[in-house]
Amino acid sequence: MIDDDDAGETLYCINHPNRETYLRCGKCERPICPRCTITTPVGARCRECAQLRRLPQYQMDLRILPYSLLGGLGTSAAGWYILSFIPFFRFFASVFVGIAIGNVMSRLAKRRTHTILAAGAVVNVALGWLIATAIRSGGDIGFVTSGGGYGGLYVALPLLLAAYFAYTRLR
Ligand SMILES: [Zn+2]
Ligand SMILES: [Zn+2]
Repeated sequence: MIDDDDAGETLYCINHPNRETYLRCGKCERPICPRCTITTPVGARCRECAQLRRLPQYQMDLRILPYSLLGGLGTSAAGWYILSFIPFFRFFASVFVGIAIGNVMSRLAKRRTHTILAAGAVVNVALGWLIATAIRSGGDIGFVTSGGGYGGLYVALPLLLAAYFAYTRLR
């Protein structure tokens, strides 16, 4: 059955006022041209109505990432900074730095796991250590690259330990 009123009515796309169309959004019923139509599992939708449905997912993944990455970096820098005052406790405590970074990042990411988060955790472990060491050494790059006065193993092992625990928390 054809509705005479509707058939006689010329519709114009809400995004393209010059473009005639016979389609309407299945939700808000505004006219949309084929190019503006987004096919969803529940039918044709305009851009806005389709985005309303999708936004929560995108928010979870993309908007949360920067907070989680920055929070992890802050935790890392703070953790390594504190650790630089207790050198003999370094190996044991580096595990907790890694776990703390993983927990903070996981919490800020609403308990989501993500490849970018796991990779970011490893970067945060190293970057936070660099920041903490740079602050402790007063920005002396030579001091930083020499391992802050201690041997390479004393730097590498705690970093690897922390990276491992931060990574597994977000994997
Ligand atoms: Zn709509
Ligand atoms: Zn259009």
